[in-house]
Amino acid sequence: MVIQKFGGTSVGSAARIKDVAALIQDGRRKVVVLSAMSGTTNSLAEIVQALNKGDKDVVHTIVDDLERTYAVTVEELFQSKAFKLRALEMLEGHWSHILSFTLDMFTRFEERTVLAQGELISTNLLQLYLEEQSVYSALLPALDFMRIDQQGEPDMWYVKSNLERMLKENPDVDLFVTQGYICRNHFGDIDNLKRGGSDYTASIIGAAIKVDEVQIWTDIDGMHNNDPRVVKQTKPISRLTFDEAAELAYFGAKILHPTSIVPARQASIPVILKNTLKPDLPGTIISNEPSGDFIKAVAAKDGITAIKIKSDRMLLAHGFLRKVFEVFERHKISIDMITTSEVAVSLTIDTTEDIAPLLEELRLYGKVEVDTVQTIVCVVGHLLQEEPGHAAKILGALKDVPIRMISYGGSKNNISILIDSHLKTAALRALNHGLFNLEA
Ligand code: ADP
Ligand code: ASP
Ligand code: MG
Repeated sequence: MVIQKFGGTSVGSAARIKDVAALIQDGRRKVVVLSAMSGTTNSLAEIVQALNKGDKDVVHTIVDDLERTYAVTVEELFQSKAFKLRALEMLEGHWSHILSFTLDMFTRFEERTVLAQGELISTNLLQLYLEEQSVYSALLPALDFMRIDQQGEPDMWYVKSNLERMLKENPDVDLFVTQGYICRNHFGDIDNLKRGGSDYTASIIGAAIKVDEVQIWTDIDGMHNNDPRVVKQTKPISRLTFDEAAELAYFGAKILHPTSIVPARQASIPVILKNTLKPDLPGTIISNEPSGDFIKAVAAKDGITAIKIKSDRMLLAHGFLRKVFEVFERHKISIDMITTSEVAVSLTIDTTEDIAPLLEELRLYGKVEVDTVQTIVCVVGHLLQEEPGHAAKILGALKDVPIRMISYGGSKNNISILIDSHLKTAALRALNHGLFNLEA
């Protein structure tokens, strides 16, 4: 059995949905995970914002736009009048549901219900299309099996037992369709796996039911060596280890949701990244297999805050770091990078929450300096210590970029560099040229 996940652009129009329907009919038993059509979740997020502000007119305008866009999709996707009508009726249900939310009763629950509509719609459309094409398939409602616990982690036991039951109830079905991104939380309310979370859904399902492979189909032929949105020339990487892919995803390679590799890695299930527009290209295989001892890629993660705690008394004396870490622990804020000197410790966090209470507590241990709008540039590969020169090459490439922090040696897979965000483009370009000899 395999998982095939298709992202927003891969289902972004009637023509794309038809391509997906063709790609999934290869005779293998599978669960197809769909994102919302591209742009839809952004529109739904704008609706949420408007409802929070109490701007009902904006809500109506966005819903009208969505209605028009989807009417075109329906017209182009279905052949018969009967199926077009069924699709329009289904859509009408979603629009009126969104419009039913009133401003005085708009809480986080309603917010997440609005955000869930995109995946509910795209899977309904594909399922209807398959039905019109007489392709035998079944819809597995993600809200019936995908659940996160109190910590926001996937409840693997719940997912596994429910999915196994649902698959058993449909022994004659080889093609299952389900929603990415959406789930229930430990209260049983509708929730989601954060933006880009459909990749995570695919990996969670794959690990829960122990499939042979998880395929992530998107609009590019696999993980590239650099961010194609920033630099001119990039190239695909044919193989990555789970550790390398996890680092790249976590540190900003948008092609994968930050934690999506984790369940597949735990279950040792290979993840294959493929291009829907060019399905014959090999893409990237992510597995436990060694992938070569060299620098493979760079990625960048924005929205970082650096905090320096400088102590004039005990400095890095026994117990100092523990106390500092405990402050972060109490505030449930995780640390990405850390460097120390005799007189200070610098660390980075990526939270958007108010950190004033955290800073106040840290001030008990020393002078606290904060730099916001920082970016972590992460260089990933299998960086063997026996093969010197990696750090020199990286720093050489970045010779004109002021560096705030460097973290090297935390693992064999990663060198992280903290810079001001306005220098990100310059840094990624310099690395593209200096490390990969590609056009910046
Ligand atoms: P989907 O909608 O299929 O989930 P995403 O937009 O989330 O697709 O991810 C694919 C995009 O990720 C690509 O179009 C590309 O612009 C961007 N991207 C950023 N960094 C990388 C990288 N290192 N390799 C490949 N794509 C990347
Ligand atoms: N539709 C969601 C988003 O746009 C989830 C996803 O595409 O993976 O973030
Ligand atoms: Mg994505």
